[in-house]
Amino acid sequence: MGLIADRTKLFQESVIREMTRLAIKEGAVNLSQGLPDIPAPPDMVFAARDSIGSEFDQYSITYGDAELRQALAKHLSQQYEAEYDPEDEITITCGVSEGIIAALMAVLNPGDEAVFFEPYYENYVPGIIMAGGVPVGVELSPPSWKIRFDLLMKAISEKTKAIIINTPMNPTGKVFNDEELAMIGEICLKNDIVIISDEIYHQMVYEGRHRSPVMIKQMQAQTILVNGFSKTYSCTGWRVGYVAAKKALSSAVRKIHDYLTICAPHPFQRACLSALELPEEYYQNIYDSYLRRRDLLCFGLMDLGFKLELPQGAYYVLADFSGLSEMNDSEFAQWLAKESGVAAVHGGSFYTNPEKGRKLIRFCFAASEHTLLEALDRMSVRLQQL
Ligand code: PLP
Repeated sequence: MGLIADRTKLFQESVIREMTRLAIKEGAVNLSQGLPDIPAPPDMVFAARDSIGSEFDQYSITYGDAELRQALAKHLSQQYEAEYDPEDEITITCGVSEGIIAALMAVLNPGDEAVFFEPYYENYVPGIIMAGGVPVGVELSPPSWKIRFDLLMKAISEKTKAIIINTPMNPTGKVFNDEELAMIGEICLKNDIVIISDEIYHQMVYEGRHRSPVMIKQMQAQTILVNGFSKTYSCTGWRVGYVAAKKALSSAVRKIHDYLTICAPHPFQRACLSALELPEEYYQNIYDSYLRRRDLLCFGLMDLGFKLELPQGAYYVLADFSGLSEMNDSEFAQWLAKESGVAAVHGGSFYTNPEKGRKLIRFCFAASEHTLLEALDRMSVRLQQL
């Protein structure tokens, strides 16, 4: 019979996290994982410290700290004009990662299909598989990563139960526009499909504006909105995210969340409460800082001979290295880490058919400008010797 469940054979460990381990081993500059090189805001850090060693050392109620849920309901109402009852419709999770898995497990029956756009963030496929579903990828068209609605329609079947969208998107930086969201919404309404919307990079939009499917009133009952604090507030290690959904979907998500994790770390939930009180200036600074980093890395990569489109959002760039090397993506990523001391993620890992990413590599520009310059310097020296 074997000791190991078949489902574990259907996906591999995260390539992104593996590249971080390789970066540590090789002493390489780590531009692989989305680790922000900006300290968490001091107010949040003080609030976290104050909460440890207090009553907040114990579990929060499973739905999450009541004050944090109330603050998020207010925030969502202001941001999207979407009303969620904090009592029933907002749940605090261990990051967006848990929120996505809980949403998938709440929606998919065994054999149901979940559609996602590729190149995709690598957690989605294992998440769908762990929920018993069948992943169905729809390719976006480079270089602008437009949605081909003919391909999307082809991917929809009687078994389609969910569409995952991620805007702004990792790894392409694509920002979904109103027209695209309206068309996806129409398809979902017509076919009883739930949208699972991962909006973790919503504060990092350099071109256009962040839009959410919940801004379309009719879509609210069929959307599970997932977001979190990791990226905007540089606290990826705290593990706090949230799910907002109307009552029926929300109560299904809550059941799964309860048995997956009971609750997110309570002291950090309290700290996230103070995040929502930060002034507008904080967000402007974050934005300016990532915009500078984007331009520094992207124009530097272009000078080195990579081909790329400037990402519209998030903090990654998917670059084409075909003009620089005959190697395939995973050889090139290994070479880059070991020989030039820069860790990045090979493009194939973002596709269900890795062949599609053979000449692509993803760099993250969440590192400081100093670190990005160091990475460009290191690559410049070694790439000339190829
Ligand atoms: N969603 C996307 C698209 C991501 O890129 C990441 C991390 O890189 C996550 C979710 C993970 O979010 P969290 O730290 O809230 O679990």
